Amino acid sequence: MPVSPSARLGMTAHKLLELTFSGQLKDEESMLYCWENEIRNHELEMRNNILEKHLVPLSLNTSNYKVKQIMTFNIVRILLREFNIQTKKVRKAESELWVQTKDEKIGGKIDSVKYADDGIYIIDYKTGAITDYFSNDNSVKEEYQEQLKIYAGLYYESHGVWPVKLILIGLDKSEYNIPFNHEECLNLLNDAKSHFDKLNKLITSGLDSTDFAAPSQAACRYCVYRPACKKYWTNREGNEQWPADFAGVVVEKKVLGNGLLKIVVENGEKKITIRGLSPERYPFLTNNMQEVMFCNLGRDTVQSYFKETPMTTGYSLS
Ligand code: SF4
Repeated sequence: MPVSPSARLGMTAHKLLELTFSGQLKDEESMLYCWENEIRNHELEMRNNILEKHLVPLSLNTSNYKVKQIMTFNIVRILLREFNIQTKKVRKAESELWVQTKDEKIGGKIDSVKYADDGIYIIDYKTGAITDYFSNDNSVKEEYQEQLKIYAGLYYESHGVWPVKLILIGLDKSEYNIPFNHEECLNLLNDAKSHFDKLNKLITSGLDSTDFAAPSQAACRYCVYRPACKKYWTNREGNEQWPADFAGVVVEKKVLGNGLLKIVVENGEKKITIRGLSPERYPFLTNNMQEVMFCNLGRDTVQSYFKETPMTTGYSLS
């Protein structure tokens, strides 16, 4: 499936932060150059991919492109200022710091570690939403909290000292302090280790890779392997919580007045209608009675009716 334009913009923003941390991005000029260079590389890759070429240019197909670009530049400017101050005084921070457990089973790279007067701060920069959209109290996403707590445990295992603060910073410069205690950090690390051991045991026991798949609405929604994941297709339900994907045989096809296609796809007793399909994105639709799969459809106002979205992907299964 295609990588979403927002994800590509996020990768670009993170790349700029990485280059800043590593000292390769030094000033305003190199910041602008790096941004344009990264975007150009992404667009080149997209142009060569039939699933993504309609999403070029990123500036027109990514929501809030300009805002995210400005936010990234603002964070880079702050980091550049801080690094300049540090190089003139005593070094008070480290970036891209690798930390790991003593047995080397679990490791991770921390964006930034600051040595403040009251102790060590572990800082991670996020290019996407930090808070959980579905939570009532605007709390930080559970997975980000766990990530930082694991970093704290890893830092302790690597250096024998606990950090005093875990901080997440968003592109909009918003800061979130993650409360933590040592015991929960070590418990998370131990959980990760036993998960690692369990998986290794399953792999050596000769299980098939598909046996490891554990479909869920939350996990599968953003998974690019969905079209090929048998477990997903056998476990998914047709309700709105699951991605709007459908596989079946095209039993009707019509070219609409605007040149777009409308098709009816049937699978057993289920039948759906998809409208607004651009013929150039699905060249296989010129054949008749094709077995097809469509992922990331948009739900129309009427039940069993769907429409194309920029992220819709179609495959011929015949
Ligand atoms: S689609 Fe398959 S591989 Fe992807 S998250 Fe779901 S179960 Fe895992």
